[in-house]
Amino acid sequence: MELEPTPDERELIAAVAEVARGTLAPQAAAADEAERVAPEVLKTLASVGVFGLNLPEELGGPGIGSVAMSHMVAEVAQACAATASIITAHYLATDAILLGATDEQRRALLPAAAEGRTIGAFGLTEPGAGSNPVEMSTRAVRTEDGWHLKGTKHFITNAGFADFIVVFAITDPEAGHHGISAFLVEPKTTPGVTFNTPEKTMGLRGSPIYEFVIDAHLPESALLGTEGDGFRTAMQVLDRGRIEVAAMSLGVSRAALDAAIAWAKERKISGKPINRLQDIAFKLADMHTRFRAAWLLTMEAAAARDSGDFTLESATAKLFASEAAAFITDEALQIHGGYGFTRDFPLERYVRDVRIYRIYEGSSEIQRTIISRALSK
Ligand SMILES: Cc1cc2nc3c(=O)[nH]c(=O)nc-3n(C[C@H](O)[C@H](O)[C@H](O)COP(=O)(O)OP(=O)(O)OC[C@H]3O[C@@H](n4cnc5c(N)ncnc54)[C@H](O)[C@@H]3O)c2cc1C
Repeated sequence: MELEPTPDERELIAAVAEVARGTLAPQAAAADEAERVAPEVLKTLASVGVFGLNLPEELGGPGIGSVAMSHMVAEVAQACAATASIITAHYLATDAILLGATDEQRRALLPAAAEGRTIGAFGLTEPGAGSNPVEMSTRAVRTEDGWHLKGTKHFITNAGFADFIVVFAITDPEAGHHGISAFLVEPKTTPGVTFNTPEKTMGLRGSPIYEFVIDAHLPESALLGTEGDGFRTAMQVLDRGRIEVAAMSLGVSRAALDAAIAWAKERKISGKPINRLQDIAFKLADMHTRFRAAWLLTMEAAAARDSGDFTLESATAKLFASEAAAFITDEALQIHGGYGFTRDFPLERYVRDVRIYRIYEGSSEIQRTIISRALSK
């Protein structure tokens, strides 16, 4: 199993890292305050191909492996976790098209999305159906010339400014998860899609999440792929997406760990740097150890994603890396003392931003369920 990027991939990673450090990191605090990542920032990321990292060359992507992609997602999150969430939500949408749509739909939709000329959102969660999306109530009914889609989706990243949203809806209420299908909704040109104001969130504040009500007529061509395949597609997409959540966890963990190491060298108590105190030194050792374990699990899951079944590996990596990120960011704040609690330092933002990694794309409880089921197979 190859856990390292190729030399060509390393060049791409370096290009993304340069933009992340030069453009993303300096605006991260302002994006958090403004509750918005500026569109120009996303354009700069698009210029180095970040919107298409999950796509093959023939559909406009760089055709890189998942290990290299995970490095790049980590670089983006290390600089600005909110931006990383915008980008990875876009990958959920484009992965749904890649895995679930027809060839014609892929060719029509994905090249523009790979370049960041269009932005996608992934609309699975509803007010009454989160961890168990089979309980969704959004309904799609056939009409003479297409579909009527009716329901409410909420907590959907990017939805309010997206060019397209992959919306999951019930097409056959008698068929359980085989009765769920995926639809392409273009909210800017489809009458009947109404957005509520973005939620007020604890972290990732530059990456707004929206509730929207849909009561709209869609053309026949809005059905993505085959009727009844939507749930399978959504689960495959989330298997992939969980590796990106793990990679984002690595990115913010790295930022917090670097900040803590530097602070512990500089901050003096009784004339000595605090890294000479065993309590602080051991914290750094534990943070490093969890970071390395999370890194290896994530890269192992990424390598597995390119070579076959990877449900167990992606759930394991997401569970461990998201929980490690919570530990590492909290300890990094602790090492900064009262300074860590102020907004003059990024530590409090790191703590807030990583909290969601244990909830979205399947909570830690759901990951444990997936892992334990896989072990008992
Ligand atoms: C910032 C943010 C961004 C998001 N982006 C998107 C997006 O782009 N697209 C999208 O579709 N959704 C998105 N979501 C929704 C997210 O995926 C859900 O919030 C998540 O799946 C949990 O669902 P829920 O909030 O309904 O919690 P619930 O499902 O109500 O869970 C409540 C609690 O019960 C636990 N629980 C549930 N089922 C079980 C079980 N079987 N065993 C043990 N414990 C269980 C959960 O772990 C949790 O602790 C986003 C949410 C947030 C906050």
